[in-house]
Amino acid sequence: MSTLDSILEEINKANSIVILTHENPDGDAVGTALSLYNALKQYGKSPDVIIPEYSKVFEFLPGTSEIKKESDVEKYDLAISVDCSDIKMLNGFSKYFENAKMRIVIDHHSTNTMFGDINFVNPDSPACSQVMLVILKHFDIEITKEIGECILTGIITDTGGFKYSSVTSETFEFTSWLLSIGINVSEIYRKVLQIKTRPNFELHRIAMNRMEFLEDGKIAYTYITKADEEDTKAQNGDHEGIVEIGRDIEGVEVSIFVREVEKGCKVSMRSNDDVNVSDICLIFGGGGHPKAAGVTMQGTIEQVKEKLLYQVKAILK
Ligand code: 5GP
Ligand code: MN
Repeated sequence: MSTLDSILEEINKANSIVILTHENPDGDAVGTALSLYNALKQYGKSPDVIIPEYSKVFEFLPGTSEIKKESDVEKYDLAISVDCSDIKMLNGFSKYFENAKMRIVIDHHSTNTMFGDINFVNPDSPACSQVMLVILKHFDIEITKEIGECILTGIITDTGGFKYSSVTSETFEFTSWLLSIGINVSEIYRKVLQIKTRPNFELHRIAMNRMEFLEDGKIAYTYITKADEEDTKAQNGDHEGIVEIGRDIEGVEVSIFVREVEKGCKVSMRSNDDVNVSDICLIFGGGGHPKAAGVTMQGTIEQVKEKLLYQVKAILK
């Protein structure tokens, strides 16, 4: 039996299903979770989606009003994790995954640790939502406007608006089809990628002022503190996009963005052509994609900066 057929069999068998994704969920995480939620409802199931906190940017997506912050840990026959490469990233809600009778992982990260009983991971896909599209089509689920909007949100956010090298011809075929059934692609694009909240803009301004260029301009480095987030009244997701600023500057090969958080520092890294930043993040227990990766590290901003620069400089030499 193929992996996808096994997944469908488990969905059919399960009376109670929970859909989970990573902490600080981005558009791909929320979009993929809700595309599966809407699809399973169409299939006659009533799954729970548990996402404690997410950016209000994604509140327009069909199904957000049904998202739960918590539930009964013992309740689930089947847990499905989407867009999450490592059980550590399920963080406070990994308990729902661990306690489920059957666990499925659907993802697109090359560093996925295959932490499910069944794993369907395609690192060649630019977004987990594009993996989900393939799965839903295999299940003969009708891709409604609602499901299409959720999938498109994942694709647009994880491809930086169709511009990353990870984009495939299927990405455009799907988007073209969505246009043909009347989905307002440019409106979704504007909602999830272009419009910035004021705190997001203010944090960009602070991060740009602090940007340093190291190693002959091959490394761009910047950071924000907890105090910056308090001063700007930042909400969940308001730091999104800052790491992209450095990567887009001529000559930069690696962009590093460090954000002070409760547990230490959350690091985001991006690269252009030559450096595999997920390899660097893996050294510190994180992961991601070759050109977009992250890790949470202990220590102050300065200590974390020093450790990261040591590794990046070694690779650039
Ligand atoms: P971002 O910089 O946007 O937070 O994350 C970039 C990519 O790296 C995303 O695909 C994200 O899932 C992954 N990533 C970020 N932080 C971590 C981490 O701590 N561990 C792992 N395994 N992946 C991460
Ligand atoms: Mn993703």
